[in-house]
Amino acid sequence: MINRLAVIGVGLIGGSLALSLKSKGAVNEVIGYSRSENARQEALALGVIDKAADSIAEAVAEADVVFVAVPMGAMSAVFADMSQHIRPEAIITDGGSAKAQVIMAAREAFGDNFKQFVPGHPIAGTEKSGPSAAFATLYEDHRVVLTPVSETDPAATAKIKMMWQLTGAEVFEMDVEHHDTVLAATSHLPHVLAFNLVGMLAQRDDCDEVLRYAAGGFRDFSRIASSDAVMWRDICLGNKQAILDLLDEYHQGINKIEQAIKDEDGDYLIEVFARAKKARDTRF
Ligand code: NAD
Repeated sequence: MINRLAVIGVGLIGGSLALSLKSKGAVNEVIGYSRSENARQEALALGVIDKAADSIAEAVAEADVVFVAVPMGAMSAVFADMSQHIRPEAIITDGGSAKAQVIMAAREAFGDNFKQFVPGHPIAGTEKSGPSAAFATLYEDHRVVLTPVSETDPAATAKIKMMWQLTGAEVFEMDVEHHDTVLAATSHLPHVLAFNLVGMLAQRDDCDEVLRYAAGGFRDFSRIASSDAVMWRDICLGNKQAILDLLDEYHQGINKIEQAIKDEDGDYLIEVFARAKKARDTRF
C-alpha cells in the first residue's frame, strides 16, 4: 500500500497508473503535477489525481513513491527540480520509453539518493495523450520492464515491482542496453516508419485523393503516426544509436526489395514476404 503517490506528468502513462492504483485501493492519495495548468486542472476534474500541486517541489515533498511520466527530453530538468525536495526514503521510478538516457540523468540529479531510483518502462500505450487519455485498465495483461542497475536498492525494485503487479501487469527485469535495443526494434523503428510514410503522403498535392482510398491495412499501419510528436522526437534522440543501427539494417533490406522489383525478381520477393508472414502468423 502506498500512502502518497506523486505523479509528475499526468498524461496517458502517469494518469493510467494513478487510476489503476486508485481502483485497486492500493494508494491513499495521488498528488499530480504537469507543466500545463490546463492538464493539472483536467486531471483533477477527471478524478485522475486527488490533488493538483503547483510545483514539482510541492508534489514530491511528502510522497512515498514518485512516478515521473513526462516526455523523455523533460526528464533531466524534472529530476533536477525534484532532487532537493524529495524525502530520502521515497522511491522514485519513471515510465520513459528508453532507459540509458534516463538513468544517466537520474544518476546525475539524485547523487546519493540514486539508489532509490528504479528505472521502468510499461510496454503499454495508445496513440492518445493527456489526462483524458488515461484509463485504469491500460496495464492489465501488459508487460512492464524494470532495468535496475548495480546501485539500485533491491528493496526499492521489489516495491516498484509489486506496484506494477497490482495494476495487472507482468513485470520483467532486463539489462538496460538489451531493453533499449529490443524496444528500438519493436516500437521505435515502427513509429519512425509510420511517421515517415504518413508524413510523405501528407505532402503530396493529391494527398486527400490518395487517402480517400486507404483501406484497413493502411489504417492499421498508420495508427501510430497519430502519436505525440514531442514524445517521439525525444525517444528518437534518447535512443539514438540503437535506432540508427536498425535504420541502417532497414535501409539495406528496403534497397534489396527495390532492386528485386527493378529486376522483376519475384523469387526474392516471395522469400522475404513469406518469411515475414510466417513470423507474424506464428509468433504473435
Ligand atoms: P502525455 O503527453 O500523455 O503526458 C505527459 C504529461 O507530461 C503531460 O501532462 C504534460 O503536461 C506533462 N509534461 C510535459 N513536460 C513536462 C515538464 N517539463 N514538467 C512537468 N510535466 C510535463 O505522454 P505519455 O504518453 O503519458 O508519455 C509519458 C512518458 O511515458 C514518456 O516518457 C513516454 O516515452 C513514456 N511512454 C509512453 C507510452 C505511450 O504509448 N504513450 C508508452 C510507454 C511509455
